[in-house]
Amino acid sequence: MELLDGKLVSAKIKEDIAAEALDFFNKNGRKPHLVAILVGNDGGSETYVASKMRNCEKVNFQSSLVRYDDHVSEEEVLQKIREINADETVDGLIVQLPLPKHIDPEKVTETIDYRKDVDGFHPINLGRMMRNLPCFIPATPYGIMLMLEYYQIETSGKHAVVVGRSNIVGSPMSILLARNSQPGNCTVTLTHSRTKNLPEFIKQADIIVAAIGKKNFVTADMVKDGAIIIDVGINREQSSETKSGYKLFGDVDFENVASKSSWISPVPGGVGLMTIVGLLKNTLKSAKKEIY
Ligand code: NDP
Repeated sequence: MELLDGKLVSAKIKEDIAAEALDFFNKNGRKPHLVAILVGNDGGSETYVASKMRNCEKVNFQSSLVRYDDHVSEEEVLQKIREINADETVDGLIVQLPLPKHIDPEKVTETIDYRKDVDGFHPINLGRMMRNLPCFIPATPYGIMLMLEYYQIETSGKHAVVVGRSNIVGSPMSILLARNSQPGNCTVTLTHSRTKNLPEFIKQADIIVAAIGKKNFVTADMVKDGAIIIDVGINREQSSETKSGYKLFGDVDFENVASKSSWISPVPGGVGLMTIVGLLKNTLKSAKKEIY
């Protein structure tokens, strides 16, 4: 078993991003700039946004956080997005999900200018990705592809089973893995909560992408010997063992599955760190106008 080490890969790629951002600053007199909008006080969201902001500073980006409490109106958030869209000093804009129920995430996503949509959720970016055109690829699938590329994992002709079909992880991941490129060229099965006999599908997989949101969902009996396992899940549980007061678990029963796999990504220390790299790379591409 070998580790798909998000800590190592993200550190290496971030070194390159930092150097490119410095070069951008020297040429343009400003840093690549990411703005995040955070609504409410969800513990997970707070942690993710803080980490994104911290990482921006580390790679010589400017970052700004716009915060609202839970009661902010949808229109106020949309108005702020329009304002940021028009601000030429901003390269990337993300709105942390989930949002409170009275704010429609689809409206929010479609109001963000697709040229600043560095999370890659806008229908224009998803549509362009579908057609293999230059676009912002959703940060988590992008980060996973970068990790597969780093380790030069041969994916061609392999059977990939993606568990979970969300718009931000499972569905785009299935498209990227099926593409005619390396990494890619997989035969993909996209599964979800209505899939019958799910373990039978997972057992056939050369590559498993678990993006469900259920701790230890993928167990050793579902995994073929030598499978490549990418664990996207982040399940937070309260814990007295850690300083933060919580512990993170993936969707894969790492302890029992690892020895059967050829490659496996841990949680924490895997896909989560690569997601941030995906976001930073998209922001840099936006600043450098490499896509639009
Ligand atoms: P969603 O809740 O949007 O989607 C979960 C998917 O899993 C759905 O498609 C759902 O099926 C499917 N599912 C749920 N239960 C089952 C089941 N029993 N059997 C089969 N499929 C099931 O989640 P996300 O895609 O946003 O996130 C998935 C996980 O990844 C979460 O733990 C999240 O925290 C984590 N995540 C991690 C990131 C990272 O950077 N590492 C980034 C984003 C997410 P259906 O569509 O039928 O409901």
